[in-house]
Amino acid sequence: MDVIKLMKMTFYIKPPRGSIPLEQFQELGRKRLQFLQKLVSTGGSFDRIKSLVEEASVVEDSDCFIDGTMKDRISHFVLRLASVNNRAMHSFLIQAESLLFSFRVSCHTLDEKQRMLQDLYRHTTTTLSERFLTSDLNNVLATIRSVLKQYRKERHKNLLDLVFQVPFYCALDFVRNREVELQNGVAYLQWSQFDKLLVSFFEMTITSGFEQMASSACLFHLQEDLRLKRVCRRLQNIFLQNSYKKEYPLAGPRSPLTQSNIDDLSHYFPLCMNHLHSLLRRHHRLRHTGRIQYTLYLKEIGLPVEEAIKFWEKEYSQPPTCGHSSSLSRTGCSHEWSKDHRRYVYNVRHLYGCEGGRKDYSAHCCGALQTRLVATSDDGGCPFAGFDKSYLRSILLQRGLKEQDVGEIESLVAKEDFRGACIKYFWSQVERYNKKEKERPCPMLLD
Ligand code: SF4
Repeated sequence: MDVIKLMKMTFYIKPPRGSIPLEQFQELGRKRLQFLQKLVSTGGSFDRIKSLVEEASVVEDSDCFIDGTMKDRISHFVLRLASVNNRAMHSFLIQAESLLFSFRVSCHTLDEKQRMLQDLYRHTTTTLSERFLTSDLNNVLATIRSVLKQYRKERHKNLLDLVFQVPFYCALDFVRNREVELQNGVAYLQWSQFDKLLVSFFEMTITSGFEQMASSACLFHLQEDLRLKRVCRRLQNIFLQNSYKKEYPLAGPRSPLTQSNIDDLSHYFPLCMNHLHSLLRRHHRLRHTGRIQYTLYLKEIGLPVEEAIKFWEKEYSQPPTCGHSSSLSRTGCSHEWSKDHRRYVYNVRHLYGCEGGRKDYSAHCCGALQTRLVATSDDGGCPFAGFDKSYLRSILLQRGLKEQDVGEIESLVAKEDFRGACIKYFWSQVERYNKKEKERPCPMLLD
């Protein structure tokens, strides 16, 4: 199969319709995300992208990025959904998809390009007349349509004589590089600049498409669906893991998670989990909901069930400590592994889906943790959302954050950007520990 020839260009204006098994939905998103991350790592060089799309592993998965296939559109919109509220992934997706689009455009003959422009004209016309659009997306599509109308009217002329008029804000790259004539806010572009103009239109369409999605009434319902939440979280984690590898290429492979290396990796846990880990190591007990929260998190990042049992056994075999008997009331627990091990083993196995209804529980999401601490005084919850300001400051300083980073986190928390605060915390820890360890962390946000 000639992959390059099949890579046409689409603007992903309309989301696909129909039904698809959830596993396939996630798988298509994963394949596209991994491909796009490799694509961006080429730095945009045509030859390197060409070699990439000819690699056997890419050709094998190529059905989800060859235009004209449903899988191409589905995989694009899966990633759009996963990144709509994730600023870093959102910017990455716009950059990566624009790069892919630019490559697609550069692979086509004039005939192929002319056919595609006809299709694009048709799509923009029907979308503008049939769908509710935000004003930004409406303006972008109307501008594309007007440029294509000029092109349709004049395409029989010598191409070198064609001149396209577009509002200057659609040609900012040309304006910045002084490559275009400007008059009264209108930029006049030549045919030789047309491919670059298409890439700029594509980028604007995707950017406005994100705004359209964010303002859509059904987004709230999609994001409340636990199955979709889990898919989005997994894709965000793949993104974060691969971004980390790119930024720290010397980092070695992470060893499999066992109860004995949790301490080392716990520096990179999100603060909610790192806090539970510290409480557990200090007092050897956690209250019930904190224990569930932490067990599910360790399961989600790959701790096998046998290792989880050993981990809890080691802690619960020690007497609860904080220097005096009030430790028992702090944890609300006076149980010992020796007396209650059957119950503890059953509970861990149950959360792993090995007992009872064998349900595959997933880790709690940020939304749930951010509201929990407000409602109860348990060990769990999101520190950024629920901890008292001075307590949060003290635990951030205990974890070695610099005053400046703590200040930045506090202002994010004041704006209720808990996720932003969490990401800032994560990168501070990576910065701090990676200088000493060549170990790849297992980042894990829970949105
Ligand atoms: S934002 Fe989410 S992952 Fe981060 S500390 Fe809060 S609950 Fe944990």
